[in-house]
Amino acid sequence: QAKASGRSTYKFYTSVLQAEVVGKLALEKELREAIKNEELEPWFQPQYELKTLKLIGFEALVRWNHPTRGVLPPGKFIDLAEETGLIINIGEIVLEKACAHLKTMQKMSSQSLKMSINLSPRQLESDNLVPFIKRIVTKNCIDPRNVVLEITENLLLQKTREVLDTLAQLKSMGIRIALDDFGTGYSAIAYLQQFHFDQIKIDRSFIQHAHENGKDIRLVKLMLGIATHLGMDIVAEGIEVNEQLSALRDLDCPLGQGYLFSKPVIFSDAEKLILKNEEHIKTVPEEDEAER
Ligand code: C2E
Ligand code: MG
Ligand code: MG
Ligand code: MG
Repeated sequence: QAKASGRSTYKFYTSVLQAEVVGKLALEKELREAIKNEELEPWFQPQYELKTLKLIGFEALVRWNHPTRGVLPPGKFIDLAEETGLIINIGEIVLEKACAHLKTMQKMSSQSLKMSINLSPRQLESDNLVPFIKRIVTKNCIDPRNVVLEITENLLLQKTREVLDTLAQLKSMGIRIALDDFGTGYSAIAYLQQFHFDQIKIDRSFIQHAHENGKDIRLVKLMLGIATHLGMDIVAEGIEVNEQLSALRDLDCPLGQGYLFSKPVIFSDAEKLILKNEEHIKTVPEEDEAER
C-alpha cells in the first residue's frame, strides 16, 4: 500500500518535472523567435528630482510583446534568458534601443536627460560589452555621462578581476554605474567605496513603509547618509503614494521613481512626459535651481 502510493507520488513528481522541462524548452524556443521577430523592447519609467518634481531621466525596463499572451514583464522570462545566455542578445537590444531613444529625447528636452539601463551578470562577463557600448554611444552621439548602467549587489559577490576591469573601463569612458536594489543583497559598505558607484538605488522594500515605520525611516536616513558621505547620487525606488514622497522629501532624498509618478511606459508616452516637463520647469522657481 505504502509502496504503491510512494511509487505514484514519484510518478507524479516526475511528470511535473517533465512538464517543467518541456515548458522551459518551449519558452526558450519562443524567446529565440521573439528576439528574431523584434518582439522585445524597452519601456521607460521616469525619474524625478523630488524637491522640484523636475524630470531627470528614465529607466529602461524590457518588455516582451508576446503575440498571444500580451505584454510580458521581465519576471516572466529574464531568469530563463540568463540561464540560456539569451540575455546577451536581449541586453544588446535594450542598450541599442534605449540609447537611440535617448538621442531623440535629448532633442526634445531643454535640459539633459539620463538613461538608466539594467545590466545582467552575464553581460558584464562578456568581452563584447565595452566595445558594444562604445559603438552605440558613438553612433548615437550621446554624452556617455548621461548613460547610467545599473548592476545588482549579488554581482559583487562573484566579482572577478574581469568584472572589475569592465566596470573600470566603462567608468573611464564617462559612463555612470549605479547599484540597484540597494539594501537587499550582501554588499558591505566597503564595497561601495571600492567600486566607486556613482549612484545607489534604495530598494522599494525600504520605501514602502518609509512614511509610517520608524525603523525603515531610520534605515533610509542611514543609506542617504552613507551615499552623501561617499558622494553618490541616490534614487528612491517604488514611490507609490504621496505620504512616501513627503517622507522622502523631509529626509532630503534627492531623486526618485515609482507608480505615484508613472509606471513604465512605451516610448511615445515617455515623449509626452518630456513635453509635460518642459511646461512644468517654467513654473519651478529659480531659487531651487541655485540651491542644488
Ligand atoms: P529593477 O531594475 O529594480 O526595476 C524596478 C522594477 O520595479 C520594475 O519592474 C518596475 O516596473 C517596478 N516598479 C517601479 N516603480 C514601482 C512602484 O512604485 N511599485 C511597484 N510595485 N513596482 C514598481 P519590472 O519592469 O518588472 O522589472 C523587474 C526587474 O527585471 C528589474 O528590477 C530588473 O532587475 C530586471 N530588468 C528589467 N529590464 C531589464 C533589462 O533590460 N535587462 C536586465 N538584465 N534586467 C532587466
Ligand atoms: Mg533597475
Ligand atoms: Mg531596483
Ligand atoms: Mg532588480
